[in-house]
Amino acid sequence: MITPKEALSIVFECVRPLKATRKPLDEALGCCLAEDVVADRDLPPANRSVMDGYAVRSSDVAKCPCTLRLIGEVAAGSAARPRVRPGTCVRVLTGANIPPGADAVVMVEQTDAADGLVTFQRKVPAGSNIRIRGEEAKRGAVLLSKKTVLGPAQIGLCAAVGKAELKVYARPDIAVLCTGLELRPVGARVRAHELRNSNGPALLAALRSRGYTNISLEVVPDDVGALTLRIEHAAEKRNVVLVTGGVSVGKYDFVPEAVAQIGATVRFHGVAMKPGKPLLYATLSGNRHIFGLPGNPLSAMTGFHEFVLPALRRMSGMPVKKCRPSMRLPLDRALRSRKGRVECVLAQLLWKKKGPLVRPLKSHGSADLVAGARADGVVVVPASVQELPAGSLVEFRPWRAHP
Ligand code: AMP
Ligand code: MG
Repeated sequence: MITPKEALSIVFECVRPLKATRKPLDEALGCCLAEDVVADRDLPPANRSVMDGYAVRSSDVAKCPCTLRLIGEVAAGSAARPRVRPGTCVRVLTGANIPPGADAVVMVEQTDAADGLVTFQRKVPAGSNIRIRGEEAKRGAVLLSKKTVLGPAQIGLCAAVGKAELKVYARPDIAVLCTGLELRPVGARVRAHELRNSNGPALLAALRSRGYTNISLEVVPDDVGALTLRIEHAAEKRNVVLVTGGVSVGKYDFVPEAVAQIGATVRFHGVAMKPGKPLLYATLSGNRHIFGLPGNPLSAMTGFHEFVLPALRRMSGMPVKKCRPSMRLPLDRALRSRKGRVECVLAQLLWKKKGPLVRPLKSHGSADLVAGARADGVVVVPASVQELPAGSLVEFRPWRAHP
């Protein structure tokens, strides 16, 4: 059986970024840039006032108190350009272009105005309260480089430089197939031998919260013929097929057989980790990928965050290093783990004054979604580690898009 580290490198060897496409700015949140975004003009585009106040010649207010004649006004958005000559000043509002002749702005709080005259109490050096044209960036400068993932501030910057449309990497389309004779829809009556399909909604939520919205979901019975057809059909239309359940060695675990039937290449089946050991990964030509996740809810979630989400991010154009982020955080309590394979232990994030801590949680095993729902993610414990005292720095992998 391969280690999780080996499994991840196999995944990264197989997945390739999808092709670039053009998207309107308001659909680009979370996407990865496939072009550099450059300043279309100097930023700021003109000398601008940082304050509400008066534009002056600094030499006029060198000896204070002094009084200047108010000859006009420039508001933000005004194209007026009243010239500031010796002995005069112009009212400016925050964001206004600095009128010609002026070289400083005095904040309104440091002045008194009456009858068209303004009295200044304090002198100000030249350049005071002025944003100089191009001080943030010159026209043509690269503001966001290719591969940048777009968050709210980056979207704002794109808007500021006139990018109504962006070239970004396409994001994968995903099919989720849940297998199991025991599965019932969430709204249905369940009998003692039945189970509600929780993996479907959980995976959909995990995908959507990361910006993957083109998803189909279906439940497939444990029948090798039906399963083969459904996987084949899904793989024709989608970049990634996620199957839950039926991937182990039970009599009705038909996913490996179905994957073989459609001619996919199995890259691995079985990873030395807990939970999630039976995980299967196979590929088809044309950058298409099949993940078989074990059916137990926590095994499915673990496999998803360890391998599937990194693959989706890579396909979305993100640099390999950013595809599986984790944090190194101190443990709040001691943690015991069995030696021999990597263990993903459910954990809560505690937001303490001194900084976040990770609290490992008890669970009754990989079916224990009750414990799973108390967790914010997992601590990834290396295979060689048996015991970690409180305070140890551990690798925490978040399961929530927003902690
Ligand atoms: P399997 O991997 O098919 O052997 O399933 C392992 C365990 O996970 C069994 O107890 C299943 O009933 C359970 N299970 C499988 N699929 C789901 C699902 N979609 N939602 C919740 N539990 C599931
Ligand atoms: Mg099953």
